[in-house]
Amino acid sequence: MSFLKDPSLLRDRAWLNGQWAAADNGETFPVDNPATGEHVGVVPRMGAAETERAIDAANAAWPAWRALTAKARAALLQAWLQQIQLHAEDLAVLMTVEQGKPLAEARGEVAYAASFIEWFAEEAKRLYGETIPSPLADRRLLVLREPIGVCAAITPWNFPLAMITRKVAPALAAGCPIIVKPAESTPLSALALAVLAERAGIPGGVLQVLTGDPRAIGGALTTSPVVRKLSFTGSTEVGRLLYAQSAPTIKKLSLELGGNAPFIVFDDADLDAAVQGAMASKFRNAGQTCVCANRLYVHDKVYDAFTAKLVEAVQGLKVGNGLEPGVTQGPLIDRAALAKVEDHIDDAVTRGARVLTGGRRADLGKTFFEPTVLADVPADAKVAREETFGPLAPVFRFHTDEEVIALANNTEFGLASYFFSRDVGRIFRVAEALEYGMVGVNTGMISNEVAPFGGVKQSGLGREGSRHGIEDYLVTKYVALAGL
Ligand code: ADP
Repeated sequence: MSFLKDPSLLRDRAWLNGQWAAADNGETFPVDNPATGEHVGVVPRMGAAETERAIDAANAAWPAWRALTAKARAALLQAWLQQIQLHAEDLAVLMTVEQGKPLAEARGEVAYAASFIEWFAEEAKRLYGETIPSPLADRRLLVLREPIGVCAAITPWNFPLAMITRKVAPALAAGCPIIVKPAESTPLSALALAVLAERAGIPGGVLQVLTGDPRAIGGALTTSPVVRKLSFTGSTEVGRLLYAQSAPTIKKLSLELGGNAPFIVFDDADLDAAVQGAMASKFRNAGQTCVCANRLYVHDKVYDAFTAKLVEAVQGLKVGNGLEPGVTQGPLIDRAALAKVEDHIDDAVTRGARVLTGGRRADLGKTFFEPTVLADVPADAKVAREETFGPLAPVFRFHTDEEVIALANNTEFGLASYFFSRDVGRIFRVAEALEYGMVGVNTGMISNEVAPFGGVKQSGLGREGSRHGIEDYLVTKYVALAGL
């Protein structure tokens, strides 16, 4: 018996040019449930040859897709949205089973993923151009906004649906075909999205999902002159590599890379709200998001009160299989993720930090880890520089605004940042001083489809979501009409 109400959402083939295809050499790789270690499914291990065929198919599908009216493309996106809504519970269960996040969070992600499709279906109809007053009397100057062409998306495992729809929906809305390569740990959610796109009537060459060898597929996508744009979400390390690989063909790039989010609690903050914000920002998805608070800076005056409340809240979390009711912390994605959390804790403790709660693997074994709070973490600890990507909240102490702003900005990353204060002057000063693409003031949750998501410095390029999120899929064409 399947764990899905609609078992046909679970695929063992990739979606290549309107066909459910195996790898040319027949190879597959398994997908495992991180909570139980059980096999959930297998998917094809495709490589460069299949990717090149997908690129040709996308290029062939492009003229008809861009020729559709924006209204027609929007209608197809809306049909896909309806399919997703109809199968929301199956998509959530499948996500929990392959990725590990608690079912409530998976349901939230299905809605979040769907929101990008809804938003960009609407935006498709609003890609207005310009007319420019001409410096010459016989001319009229027009600015058109056109689809860039064949696009590629390489996506991570931490948001198996939303990181795909946030790229695919604006591409399709703008009139571009797109090829998606999902992460190896979570390809099943991506393939389920393709099943629903097929049912919605989105043409086969317009949206393709290839599973397989990241280097081979990534290599073919980045070196192809036909692929005009690559959107990547993942590690800074892989982002750098893809940036370099894309240089010879001068591709347009969107890169959503690592973060090292500071979370600052000033002495005038509402401490209960700050704890709530810290819990949402730090422990969502067991700390495995690129906008998770990585470093908590708390003013000396409220340090003890804040940490006491935080520890109490953290001790209320429940670790376990995300399908079980009441579980708020699933397993980490793999053993390497677990090892990184342990390394950051060991390093901080060696330098004098104290473990207030957690600090070790959970009794459930596998990759389950106890949510952890560290106090008196020194400024030179590893966790101050590197993203933990796990359920570890290191609390640092500060005394002045200048000091904490300098500490917060002392990183090559610049994705999300957060602070809690009730002083309106300080709110403006600090929000402006933080060198980050996003600032959450008195909240730990900032992501939604209507706001521009993205980073500065080595956290990446471009913005996703909002009206800005479609820009990267468009090119500007200037038309000079002379002799009028
Ligand atoms: P994470 O640390 O979140 O796993 P990665 O950057 O390793 O981040 O992975 C994000 C995505 O990038 C995944 O889809 C993965 O398969 C892909 N990826 C990893 N290495 C490469 C590579 N060399 N070329 C192309 N894609 C890659």
